[in-house]
Amino acid sequence: MNLASLSALVGEANISTTVEDRIVYSRDASRLEGECLAVVWPSHPEQVAGLVAWAEAEDVDLVPRGAGTGLCGGATPQRSVVVDLSRLTRIGPVDAEQRRVQVEAGVVLGSLNRRLAPHGLFLPVIPGSHRASSVGGMIATDAAGLRAVRYGTMADWVEEVTLVDGLGRWHHLTGEALRDAVGREGVTGFVVEAVLRLAPRPAQRTLSLVAFDDLAALLAQRDRWLADPRLTALEYLNRHAAEAIGWEARPHLLAEFDSDGGEIGDPDRIAALWQARDGLYPVLARRGYPVIEDPQIEGEGMAALLAWLEAEGIPTFGHLGVGIVHPCFSADDERVAALYERVAAEGGRVSGEHGIGLKKKAWTDAAFRAEVQRLKAQYDPHHRINRGKLC
Ligand SMILES: Cc1cc2nc3c(=O)[nH]c(=O)nc-3n(C[C@H](O)[C@H](O)[C@H](O)COP(=O)(O)OP(=O)(O)OC[C@H]3O[C@@H](n4cnc5c(N)ncnc54)[C@H](O)[C@@H]3O)c2cc1C
Repeated sequence: MNLASLSALVGEANISTTVEDRIVYSRDASRLEGECLAVVWPSHPEQVAGLVAWAEAEDVDLVPRGAGTGLCGGATPQRSVVVDLSRLTRIGPVDAEQRRVQVEAGVVLGSLNRRLAPHGLFLPVIPGSHRASSVGGMIATDAAGLRAVRYGTMADWVEEVTLVDGLGRWHHLTGEALRDAVGREGVTGFVVEAVLRLAPRPAQRTLSLVAFDDLAALLAQRDRWLADPRLTALEYLNRHAAEAIGWEARPHLLAEFDSDGGEIGDPDRIAALWQARDGLYPVLARRGYPVIEDPQIEGEGMAALLAWLEAEGIPTFGHLGVGIVHPCFSADDERVAALYERVAAEGGRVSGEHGIGLKKKAWTDAAFRAEVQRLKAQYDPHHRINRGKLC
């Protein structure tokens, strides 16, 4: 690799080939590890287009990386150069009237929402990783999260994406064309900027936390809450997950409302409960369950799946309001395959929010693979960006 020409492009201080950095960047938050040849930190969107031209000349491939919190190996390199976009942090003026803001891809959701707070606005897509995940990564994965039951996914909040594709061409995608970037996990190119729609911050939030003796009662309560227009989040913990964070070992529902729908109104108690919920996956990972899955399934299929997970003793939590659950497994647990066989048999999706990346390629269908190949031919025919991901 010609590092001199790379240096000329982004500056020597913004490239690393040290063993330490290459190890750090050899994986994302999944356990899938690959080989990182070098790490580059562009500081301007224009440099990203230069990097694509450089990769073409050098015959290497590039992996876009936001915060690296992805859980399916999407940002795991495979003898690739990792392009860390975390220095693209410009936030444009907030258009409070139109409820819009333009941001660069590396902006972290938590920072963005702190900046928006004085305007009474927020970006309401809140993944469990909200303190770290980048807007670019969230667009690429079409992130969902804790408030998806009210606010949907990133696709509902992106108005325009500026994309640098695998031939170094710039696209300003809007309307239907947004689908070529949102949720495509970087296989069509680098999201370098976006215009985001914003929501008004609710003046009040309340919570309800209820433990249940059986699944039927829990699902009946879920249905009652889903009919409540004040609902903003509906989280599930099975008894193994609840126990892991010191709650009573029974299945729980945690519901959030944007007004007085819940019994818990004390802001400190609300913050503590959300903090415990946010910490669930790290706690389970430390306890020996680092492999986290994210099937999405509705109706009867969900009831059967939850019963199976509980009976098998698999710690599980998730966004029950939108049918996404996160069963957590030990590294060598062969029941992951059984899980996806069940999900496929019930007509569910293998990934409700984390994406396909490298991890779930084997579970995709022919129509999905054909669609990815079509997009690849259109945007990245030489496979310069996220080679081998999705299919
Ligand atoms: C504790 C924890 C909780 C989580 N909770 C949730 C949750 O509730 N909901 C949810 O949806 N996800 C969740 N996630 C997964 C993860 O945080 C999301 O997928 C997030 O959107 C990834 O953002 P990132 O910036 O870390 O992206 P990365 O991990 O860096 O990248 C993710 C994918 O996007 C691509 N990519 C990144 N930036 C760009 C860009 N600018 N242009 C093109 N492609 C790009 C990468 O190549 C990769 O394929 C969680 C993860 C953790 C560790």
